[in-house]
Amino acid sequence: MITVFTRQGKRIEILSQSELWHPRLTGGRVRAFCPIHGSDHQRSLSIDPVSGWGRCFNAACQANVLIREWNPQAAYHLLGTGSSGELVSQEGAPERSPVPRLSALARQKEGASALNVPSRWQQEERRLLEALEPTMQAALQASAQGRAYLGERAIPLEIALSCGVGLLTPAIIAHLPRGKQRRLLQRWSGRLIFPLRAEGTKGYIGRTLWGWRPGMDENDHKQLLERLGRPQRWIKTNPAGSFSLPWDQLASKLILVEGTFDRLALLSAGFLPEEVVALAGTALPTTGLPPHVRHVLLALDGDEGGREATARLSAQLREQGRAVTCCLIPRDGRGKDWNERWRLGARAALEPLLDSYRRLY
Ligand SMILES: [Zn+2]
Repeated sequence: MITVFTRQGKRIEILSQSELWHPRLTGGRVRAFCPIHGSDHQRSLSIDPVSGWGRCFNAACQANVLIREWNPQAAYHLLGTGSSGELVSQEGAPERSPVPRLSALARQKEGASALNVPSRWQQEERRLLEALEPTMQAALQASAQGRAYLGERAIPLEIALSCGVGLLTPAIIAHLPRGKQRRLLQRWSGRLIFPLRAEGTKGYIGRTLWGWRPGMDENDHKQLLERLGRPQRWIKTNPAGSFSLPWDQLASKLILVEGTFDRLALLSAGFLPEEVVALAGTALPTTGLPPHVRHVLLALDGDEGGREATARLSAQLREQGRAVTCCLIPRDGRGKDWNERWRLGARAALEPLLDSYRRLY
């Protein structure tokens, strides 16, 4: 959270969508508990998902907020100095916020990440991961644990390899020539690595296999990792991007899913690589989809977050002049995302998506 003041003295809190507490879409607005005054008994924050602007309706708070991922231009405008001449000062988080007051340096870093300007170590991290791609792919092929993990998710090894997935083993890191490189990649150790694409650049997302044993499904593993001190399930580079083919190769009718494993599951079921893009999250790519994509089938997760994101993304995509179809995963106990459904029920459990897809043609 960053506080900025405009020249007119208007105070604006710039938030990341990850700072919203339990967001829910109601009547075309995203409602969330307010992290600015710290309420968790009423969704007093009301945000327009298309513009990213919102307000807290708590009488004592009345904060003006901007969600930076939903309106990167406005966030850039407010945080950038000079271009608008409007910004006069930035402050750390206010006293009553659950977020501690930021130091000047932390504010600078926070500002840089809001503008998505990668720091030097982030560029070096991406460069190293890119150079290691062939080694990581060979390691995945050779790893009994890696193959068993994919098998548990019902993903054939060849499908994962054809999408560039690899495994960063501790041995690969130990063989790096420089201590600085080894330290930089330490947080990626023992992870399945998925290459991501942003416009003109590459990013990565890594899923830890820490503590995973054959026979554990993703829910058991998630539970194991949720305990304090365990590695984060997923980490990303900055910039990250989407798990997909290069932009110019995408089909004009696209399926958008949340997770990288959802995309692998759909490709395992016979969809073509150019037809499916995984967001690796629930935000649209900051650079936008290519203009030749005319129709988007939103097929996000079946949980509350997926439903909120479906409404938000469909509003954003329609605003861009694209046709949108939404396929919500039914709450039928057959899996909350496409990978889980594919694992539990094979093609039959993908029927809602297959049906929506057939209706596009
Ligand atoms: Zn508030």
